Amino acid sequence: MGVKPYYGPDFGLLLSQDPEIAQVLLDELDRERGGIQLIASENFTSPAVLAALGSTLTNKYAEGYPGRRYYGGCEVVDRAERLAIERACALFGAEHANVQPHSGASANLAAYAALLKPGDTMLAMALPHGGHLTHGSKVNFSGKWFDVVSYGVRRDTELIDYDEVRDLALRHGPKVIVCGATAYPRLIDYQVFRGIADEVGAWLLADAAHPIGLMAGGAIPSAVPYADVVTLTTHKTLRGPRGGAILCTGELAGRIDRAVFPFVQGGPLMHVVAAKAVAFAEAMRPGFAGYAQRVIANARALTEALTREGMRAVSGGTDTHLALIDLRELGVSGAEAERRCAAAGITLNRNAVPYDPEPAAIASGIRVGTPCVTTQGMGLQDLEEIGTLVSRAVRSPGSSAEVRERVAALLAIHRPYLSEY
Ligand SMILES: *Cc1c(COP(=O)(O)O)cnc(C)c1O
Repeated sequence: MGVKPYYGPDFGLLLSQDPEIAQVLLDELDRERGGIQLIASENFTSPAVLAALGSTLTNKYAEGYPGRRYYGGCEVVDRAERLAIERACALFGAEHANVQPHSGASANLAAYAALLKPGDTMLAMALPHGGHLTHGSKVNFSGKWFDVVSYGVRRDTELIDYDEVRDLALRHGPKVIVCGATAYPRLIDYQVFRGIADEVGAWLLADAAHPIGLMAGGAIPSAVPYADVVTLTTHKTLRGPRGGAILCTGELAGRIDRAVFPFVQGGPLMHVVAAKAVAFAEAMRPGFAGYAQRVIANARALTEALTREGMRAVSGGTDTHLALIDLRELGVSGAEAERRCAAAGITLNRNAVPYDPEPAAIASGIRVGTPCVTTQGMGLQDLEEIGTLVSRAVRSPGSSAEVRERVAALLAIHRPYLSEY
């Protein structure tokens, strides 16, 4: 149990040698602890993970894989990577894991490189309906190098239109079907996607960047038994260091490993690989299952409170750690709501809602998520109050000082980096 604020390994040394950067670290810690963090893709990683990140493993070049490196002196870092791989396979029940991707986007680039050639067809969720930039956006490599066909959600239910997915798959014969999203509050039916992929002879790639921690904790069904390849981030619901990883079948192991290195990346970040191993072990402890369940229960409590306040939840609710709120009936844009919440000490992001008439920079909605507040120990009643506070901040910017006071009261009880992990 930590009783003092955690500033990182040997913070005093940094303070004496580089006070400017030390001040940045202090200010960011204050910012993270001084407001309510509702960004669905963020979390507070543990002091143990931070310790691994701040280690001399950052010094080591280790191109290649354990036992097959292109540099000498890798016998120690090999142990870190072997542990990370073993733990990832055990945690997710996967046949193979590659723990080197620097980020979720790098993991997707490598997964595509393993399965596709430039010009090949892939089918993925449209960005304005909740997909990710790496799922075929024109401004991303995926949209430039591949022939991308997009599916979306139905206008009436705001749920993935599996009939449309199947029709498009039959019509276009994609080599890869991608399921997974960045702003979709509901469960994804991986079994249905598997059936469609089998019907058209496509690989199934599940991008579980967001919900992977909920899968690790057994709070929602895992994509691993259904997908040929699962890409993930380690820093969102999984609560580890910033980074990515890929899980795949034994059949694809060689192709995935060659795609990560040498095709997409150079030397792995061994301090981050070690920190991923720490996070995988933390996610295997019994407490993490409870965390994953509380994240979802908290997201439901928040969404229900927002709904009672007259803020419409896209698809009518959530099954996960996040909700998407449509603000059109309030006459406040997503960008304006984001600003008003920030002024009241609540950090969240604007987000397009399905069939949004506004450009993405304005957007008609906001996205809220509960990984951070759950890590700092907040429960159902806290989230109900946060729902009321978000509503007040969005509707009446004049009340931001009062909202800030309530935010400070909640934070005084639940302080990140002052409570037990
Ligand atoms: C966050 C996210 C990514 C990318 O992760 P980065 O680490 O930011 O590159 C990829 N896919 C989805 C669905 C995501 O939500």
